[in-house]
Amino acid sequence: MNVILLRYGEIFLKGHNRKFFEQVLQQNIAESLKGFKFNLQKISGRFEISEYDESNEKIIIDKLQKVFGLHTLSVAERLETDYDAIKTACAKLDLNGKTFRVTANRASKIFPIKSMELNAELGGIILDNNKNSKVDLHNPDVKVRVDIRENGYTYISTNIIKCAGGMPLGTAGKGLLLLSGGIDSPVAGYFMARRGLKIEAIHFHSYPYTSELAKQKVINLAKKMCDYLVDIKIHIISVTHIQEEIHKYCDGDFMITLLRRMMMRISQNIAKKNELGALITGESLGQVASQTLQSINATNAVVDIPVFRPLIGFDKQDIMDIARKIGTYDISIQPYEDCCTVFLPKNPVTKPKLDKVLREEIKLDIDELIQKSLDSEEIVEVHCI
Ligand code: ATP
Ligand code: MG
Repeated sequence: MNVILLRYGEIFLKGHNRKFFEQVLQQNIAESLKGFKFNLQKISGRFEISEYDESNEKIIIDKLQKVFGLHTLSVAERLETDYDAIKTACAKLDLNGKTFRVTANRASKIFPIKSMELNAELGGIILDNNKNSKVDLHNPDVKVRVDIRENGYTYISTNIIKCAGGMPLGTAGKGLLLLSGGIDSPVAGYFMARRGLKIEAIHFHSYPYTSELAKQKVINLAKKMCDYLVDIKIHIISVTHIQEEIHKYCDGDFMITLLRRMMMRISQNIAKKNELGALITGESLGQVASQTLQSINATNAVVDIPVFRPLIGFDKQDIMDIARKIGTYDISIQPYEDCCTVFLPKNPVTKPKLDKVLREEIKLDIDELIQKSLDSEEIVEVHCI
């Protein structure tokens, strides 16, 4: 019978927390396969999926590859541990002329034959039945794994598929992602979720300066992110009045710095109200005027919760590659304007001095502006399809 073996890595490092990580991971795996027929079981150090419809195997694997905390998976033939049965199964393998090696692993030492001996014996049987194949111990095309487990079963596999890695979603608390319509912020959310952080998102718009389509684009982005993040609550907030006030009363060159500081304050407010322990942004050092060290300092100064910037040391090209991999790129490049492009100054300050920023900011009624934004909040919840 074919089963899917799921392996997880880092969880082992977590000592007595391990059970908690495994339980969350098991729930997340089950959740990812909702709607399919399957049996999910914990076996020592792995999970096993059996009794699934093999015609769905590809799509099931695709879903599993997106579950954070899983590191690799293999489709394996499961047999009751019996030496003759193992030999017969190896004799049936068709390697198509590819080079191979056998790696036997005897987790169950009850099995009397040592791994080295097994490798040689089973390798011989495979060679007898695959006249065009050769053994290559160092760089084989196919690794034949023969895994003899404590549960009385042996698993034979010839493939190993990489999964998303990281830690199970939900094991590291919750954070609030500042989600623009751009390329970077979805990638930033992906990276933090991959470390186990459950994500809610906040999006700022300047309707009617920005269109309804810009808002819809962000909803579509969040939906796409749900392939990995399962579900996302989006807090949609207007900053139109803030931009108008800054435009009216402040030095225009400070528009972005002042707006960013307001976004950070509002984000912190929403985070605290919703018990979200950190903010996440897609900033990358020096990428644009608002992401110089001085700008980041100026915007960071208004909050007192951690701000995670997982892309801080990434090149744009690397971020774009990941955006393509996680499927958000094509949505991000749709040409709807971001609120930050409204009232854009010709010469934005790249090294805002805090005293100058404060001198501009004093012209605004900050509490009232924040309250008006909070009153505009609209919540949209999206789920994976
Ligand atoms: P992105 O590709 O994520 O839009 P960017 O390179 O365009 O980033 P900025 O526009 O400077 O850079 O934005 C920096 C970060 O600020 C974004 O990654 C995002 O986290 C946050 N941000 C910017 N605009 C918005 C917005 N309208 N709503 C929510 N967050 C935003
Ligand atoms: Mg942007």
